Amino acid sequence: MTNPSARQILQGVFGYPEFRGRQEEIVETLAAGRSLMVLMPTGGGKSLCYQIPALMREGVAVVVSPLIALMNDQVANLHAAGIHAACVHSGTSGEEARSIAESMETGRLKLLYVAPERLVTERFLRFLDQHTVNLFAIDEAHCVSQWGHDFRPEYRQLGMLAQRYPHVPRVALTATADAATRADMKHYLGLENAAEFVASFDRPNIYYQVIEKNNGKKQLLDFIKKQAAGQSGIVYCLSRKKVEDVAAFLCENGLDAIPYHAGLEMDVREANQKRFTREDGVIVVATVAFGMGIDKPDVRFVAHLDMPQSVEHFYQESGRAGRDGLPAVSWLCYGLNDWVILRERIETGNSSAEQKQVELQKLDAMLSVCETADCRRVLLLKHFGEESEPCGHCDNCLHPPTRFDGTVPVQKLLSCVYRVGQQFAAGYVINVLRGKTDDWIIGNCHHELSTFGIGDGLSDKEWRGVVRQCISLGYLTVNPAHYQALQLTAAAKDVLKGRAQVWLRPLKRDKSATRTPQEAWLRTEREERIWQALRSWRKQRAQDGNVPAYVVFGDRTLRALVDKLPQTQEDLRDIYGMGEAKISEYGEEVLEICARFAHA
Ligand code: ADP
Ligand code: ZN
Repeated sequence: MTNPSARQILQGVFGYPEFRGRQEEIVETLAAGRSLMVLMPTGGGKSLCYQIPALMREGVAVVVSPLIALMNDQVANLHAAGIHAACVHSGTSGEEARSIAESMETGRLKLLYVAPERLVTERFLRFLDQHTVNLFAIDEAHCVSQWGHDFRPEYRQLGMLAQRYPHVPRVALTATADAATRADMKHYLGLENAAEFVASFDRPNIYYQVIEKNNGKKQLLDFIKKQAAGQSGIVYCLSRKKVEDVAAFLCENGLDAIPYHAGLEMDVREANQKRFTREDGVIVVATVAFGMGIDKPDVRFVAHLDMPQSVEHFYQESGRAGRDGLPAVSWLCYGLNDWVILRERIETGNSSAEQKQVELQKLDAMLSVCETADCRRVLLLKHFGEESEPCGHCDNCLHPPTRFDGTVPVQKLLSCVYRVGQQFAAGYVINVLRGKTDDWIIGNCHHELSTFGIGDGLSDKEWRGVVRQCISLGYLTVNPAHYQALQLTAAAKDVLKGRAQVWLRPLKRDKSATRTPQEAWLRTEREERIWQALRSWRKQRAQDGNVPAYVVFGDRTLRALVDKLPQTQEDLRDIYGMGEAKISEYGEEVLEICARFAHA
């Protein structure tokens, strides 16, 4: 009997018509027994890269995964596709372990998920020695590096797999692509000679929107009500206190929101995470502690209520939206204060001076993404080393801000910074510009400066916009050692001397620019009714099976059903996400629902 081809498995087992990006090459390389590294953005489709080879080769694939929740979700997904998979971790009972061993004896088990610390124990390795391991997949492989944000020392020990199993191919997968992390992965995992597959980091279905903060909570509420009502989403905040506060605020306003941060009791955290993953339509408000291991494909928006500390963080967090490939929104609300607070955090942190410098640069790159008047995606992708054309699907592309000649206000600002001796932070400088007197300003005699009151034409908020743009354009920096005082850069001189012109983004945002493109795929009332009928059926089925709704069927499958209204088992084979196992498990019921509407 010949083994099924990669494509047959993709279509027959998973029900997907085509490979995405470089998936096929990756699958073939691994199936041919060669080790490799895979760098793909969150939601890019890393799991299939080793799941399909696992089914193509004799024996069992061993998958290393850092989180129990992640393993459980993957196993549930595989079971739904009719694949024998299991996981071993601290919560696995002796009895379960025995039944796993048994299904390995019979050769039925195709994928075994295991925590890194468990895998490297001598006992477990001896157990593996008695079976045919067809590949090792190391998921979230950036955990091996202390440059990544999820350093897990036990990952370092995985390097021994290379010596102990020289003939078993290994694949390391991650969504973190920077050079330092990549080098660590190669080094510590013994993948120096492995091929590297770097997928495009573009996530074309994500709409990027960045707005300036004035009343963050209310802006968030408006955004959710107008653009994401009733949908699953994640809201990221910088502090635990703010998480609690924002979750309560959203609930008061009638939304189904729950908090998540490391300060909550373990059982509360687990219960909240479970509700979020299982149900469809819950909003989780969280610190960045939440996310790794959340593989929920139908997250429709990710909102940042504070500026992230780097583009890498932003991209990984926002990438949790729209894994299923359907339209999703990344919404970010930021202010100058966020930037100042993050700088302070970095400066007072425990990193080495060199590391701090790197972190400050990363923060500034993030500010540039916020401040840019050009395509956000172009800037984001450039950060990951990819050149691209304006995307037509971000706020700046849809509503291009017209820049204006801001040389005069910028000169006023720079000159005022100079007059106050480069000793004061933005708020103070702006007060001087706007001619506000307070005890401090009078005490310093700054109400007598030539720049006092020369900027009363602009509001405080508008001046803050000018300050931010000057920072991101490189005319101003902030002195960390001196109360975040604004200081001039060398480039500022040309502007002050009238030798350079400065073009600024509008200081007031066009209202229409805060709208997302509406997707209107449910065109008729009838379609809406079919959609709702399928959703409630799915909900019931998920509850019966004690699995997340998306494990039964993703939104994309339900959409395909609404669009095509299949009549026969044969028709079902053309539906996205319908593999053999799902057709036999759910086919009848789905056809019955479709028939009801076809005749109505
Ligand atoms: P990652 O681990 O890279 O973040 P996943 O492996 O969880 O991403 O895949 C994200 C989603 O995309 C999953 O729902 C997966 O089933 C789906 N997917 C992956 N590859 C394909 C494909 N070739 N066609 C359709 N859907 C796919
Ligand atoms: Zn764009």
